[in-house]
Amino acid sequence: MSFEKLAELIFPEIDKTPEYYIEKYPKRNLKEGAVVSRYAPSPTGFQHIGGVFAALINERLASQTEGIFFLRIEDTDQKREVKGAIEDTIQTMHNFGMDFNEGMTGEDSSKGEYGPYRQSERAEIYKTFVKDLIKKGLAYPAFDTPEELAELRERQTEAKITPGYYGEYAKDRNLTEEEYIERINSGKDYVIRFKSPGNSETRVEFSDLIKGDISFPENVQDVVIIKGDGLPTYHFAHAIDDALMRTTHVIRGEEWLSSLPIHVQLFDTLGFERPNYAHIPTIMKNDNGSKRKLSKRKDAEAAVSYYKEVGYPVQSVIEYLLNIVNSTFEEWRAENPTVDYHDFEVALDKMSKSGALFDIVKLNDVSKEVICKLKADKVYDLYTEWAKEYDKEMYDLVTSNEAMSKEIFNIDKEGPKPRKDFAKWDEVRGKVDYFFDELFNKETAENVELPKTLSLENAKEIIKVYKDKFNFNAGSQENWFEDLKAIGAELGYCANRKEYKANPDAFKGMISDVAGAVRAALSHRSNTPDLYTIMQILGEDKVRARFEAFLNI
Ligand code: GLU
Repeated sequence: MSFEKLAELIFPEIDKTPEYYIEKYPKRNLKEGAVVSRYAPSPTGFQHIGGVFAALINERLASQTEGIFFLRIEDTDQKREVKGAIEDTIQTMHNFGMDFNEGMTGEDSSKGEYGPYRQSERAEIYKTFVKDLIKKGLAYPAFDTPEELAELRERQTEAKITPGYYGEYAKDRNLTEEEYIERINSGKDYVIRFKSPGNSETRVEFSDLIKGDISFPENVQDVVIIKGDGLPTYHFAHAIDDALMRTTHVIRGEEWLSSLPIHVQLFDTLGFERPNYAHIPTIMKNDNGSKRKLSKRKDAEAAVSYYKEVGYPVQSVIEYLLNIVNSTFEEWRAENPTVDYHDFEVALDKMSKSGALFDIVKLNDVSKEVICKLKADKVYDLYTEWAKEYDKEMYDLVTSNEAMSKEIFNIDKEGPKPRKDFAKWDEVRGKVDYFFDELFNKETAENVELPKTLSLENAKEIIKVYKDKFNFNAGSQENWFEDLKAIGAELGYCANRKEYKANPDAFKGMISDVAGAVRAALSHRSNTPDLYTIMQILGEDKVRARFEAFLNI
């Protein structure tokens, strides 16, 4: 059956053939096993963490195999398009350590031989293939109005049969060429539908690289491939683009899994080799015991911008996502504490088949691990970069006290068990603010935290004596503590827990109360890193000034 006239009537301007494009975009010359993968977002402006997750898997696989990772912009739904979204995507991925080898490089630019990489610029290519399908009787124009389609669906639902446009319900599927032509000439609106060769009794089998072997009934729906506005649907664009761009691995969200029967049918009918598929589990969240999708509306952490705002280092987010990709990452990290994460080999077959659970507590653990291993200078750089944008006051304080700030970031860093103070940069202020007079001096007695066993009055009494007796230049933490113990003992505070327990009335309290008083005077906190170190960082003048101020608080 040939529908030559119909194809010409619909696409008079199309003069190329599918062969032309198939030759124009030849198989890539890459080494055996190289993966060609892509990130294919719609330019809607909102970057979901799931997008970074998908891009990361694609990028890692391509990079690990010396393949190609490219950016394709899927902008066939032009109502949703946001200006600047392409640049934003490129920048975001770059910030997350991912760069594209090929594809869009900006709003109006691209690189690579397999473009255009923006679907709205590929209309001629899609039309060439559709024209050919129509000519061969494998696709047809359908003239149903939205009302007619809604009515069909209603009828089917009522009769409890599978809804959709297929078989006997596909009313325009079997018109004659003359009938199609006559309707088009009468000015009726239409879409182009794929004439499905499927049979619901037959099953198709595929082997998904994440989900394993799966089978589905064949697709029987005559899906729309070209919409009323002349642009393709996702199904058709996916088949054409991934075939012509020579994608070897389509790694995408599992929401597309149920459309796979349509996709393989399209690949087969178009005469294209099917790509490998890997469907990534959706990122879920535990919401009071029940799992649900991370939602753009309800969950701040769904937006990529969130991580930057609160100040998670990019490395933390990536390492956390790698943990979700392969649970073996954690073990690898423990064995290779200082190796770049790029050296971890991502394996699709080791990925969890069901929902990937997003867990902020775990992210914080990973991030603390990452930050605690960074050198103080690096922490300083990353923190000031963040603070410059999100906490100007801290930025000014930290940069005008650079040496002290680096000492602060270096507290307990060099040892075998570095401190894990921060998971993200917005936590820094609350943990280091007391070092800065500008912030500390604004505090009042209400801010003072003391050990439960100590009153403010007693704390002041301790400081009154301690300030005149203590040796600032004790030389070491041990000497400093001996000094504190001796002063404490004179004041009636016991240095030995057993002794104190046996005879509590003989003492004013424990030596920990004395340390608590000093800590409170210097920081207004009941919990800080090592006091001796803090005193060294503050310097003698500040320490003495703080003791004086404490007596008057
Ligand atoms: N534009 C599609 C999406 O954002 C891409 C899916 C795919 O990777 O094929 O869901």
